[in-house]
Amino acid sequence: MSGSDRSPQGVVTCRAVVCWGPDEPWTVEDITVDPPSPSEVRIKLLYASVCHTDIVRSKGFPVPLFPRVLGHEGVGVVESIGSEATEFKVGDVVIPTFVGECRKCDNCKLGNTNLCLVHPLLLTGLMPDGTSRMSVHGQPLYHLFSCSTWSEYTVVAACYLVRVDPDLEIRHASFLSCGFTTGYGAAWRAAGVKSGSSVAVIGLGGVGLGAIQGSSSLGAAPIIGVDVNDSKRGKGEAFGMTHFINPNQSDKSLPELIRDLTGGMGVDYCFECVGGSALINHALESTKMGFGTVVAFGAGSGKSLEINFPSLVTGRTLKGTVFGGIKPRSDLPELFTKCKLKEIQLDQLASHEIGLDEVPKANQLLKQDDCVKILIKMC
Ligand SMILES: [Zn+2]
Ligand SMILES: [Zn+2]
Repeated sequence: MSGSDRSPQGVVTCRAVVCWGPDEPWTVEDITVDPPSPSEVRIKLLYASVCHTDIVRSKGFPVPLFPRVLGHEGVGVVESIGSEATEFKVGDVVIPTFVGECRKCDNCKLGNTNLCLVHPLLLTGLMPDGTSRMSVHGQPLYHLFSCSTWSEYTVVAACYLVRVDPDLEIRHASFLSCGFTTGYGAAWRAAGVKSGSSVAVIGLGGVGLGAIQGSSSLGAAPIIGVDVNDSKRGKGEAFGMTHFINPNQSDKSLPELIRDLTGGMGVDYCFECVGGSALINHALESTKMGFGTVVAFGAGSGKSLEINFPSLVTGRTLKGTVFGGIKPRSDLPELFTKCKLKEIQLDQLASHEIGLDEVPKANQLLKQDDCVKILIKMC
């Protein structure tokens, strides 16, 4: 590689979606993006997508950081490279990740968690060195995690970047950078679903469909999908769901409906993808007494939960996870291969495709019955 290929190419001006405050509309602005520092890479985004965590962060939870460039799902090409980020080259197709993997710290070596101690989840809205690479009208912008993908260009520390298999269809690779992989990983890595395990998944959005696909790939049966929206049934079936429950169409409680499908016992694993105390307690009561496990996902906006202790104390486990326990560098290549072999039909996730200018209306689109994933075409 020649020196000129690697040297940062100055400040770029580009369009990005800026969130100004919890009650302010998002606006598309011309922003400036600095060149990468030595350990960083600047990428030109090709596609991004919308995850509920973007909405939660836009409301200032858990820390209000504004103005901010949201977005943490995306895929792009490397545009310029810091002098020390030698593992990447210009033109590489990459996805930013919000969890790093150093492969050397105690947690990385242990193998039973993906929460790297050296490259942790960044909650400061800044780069690992505590500064920003983006500004709008001279005002610094906060990043979102290590990503900020709702921008034509973004700077990412190389340790939060994974090279995508070049044979993968790029337009849907964005879906692998958070929601779907979080659900898939929750079944595979966080819970350790086994062949023959019984599974229920509450909420059939991107995370829930990932949990269904992960459970199906591991040989689980039955796989019971739960959603108040009947139009999600077809999506669930496309990813391996065997039974569907719309709890609004029965007088019975959700735990009763799930026990009815599992010989009165409940399921081995329940993935709760909606949030809130009521549903997490329903999830606990839907699993087997003695050893049922609930994996709860963190897109909710409440800091505490009220747990029905008798359900928990009778041998059940309530488990949390970030990115489904997926180690980006070790585990994502396996998902890339499954997508290439069409064992995972990522295209089934896309319900809407919009341009960057239309991102401010994403909140409304997410409320539509048929909305699963919103793909953002950047150029
Ligand atoms: Zn590590
Ligand atoms: Zn997300």
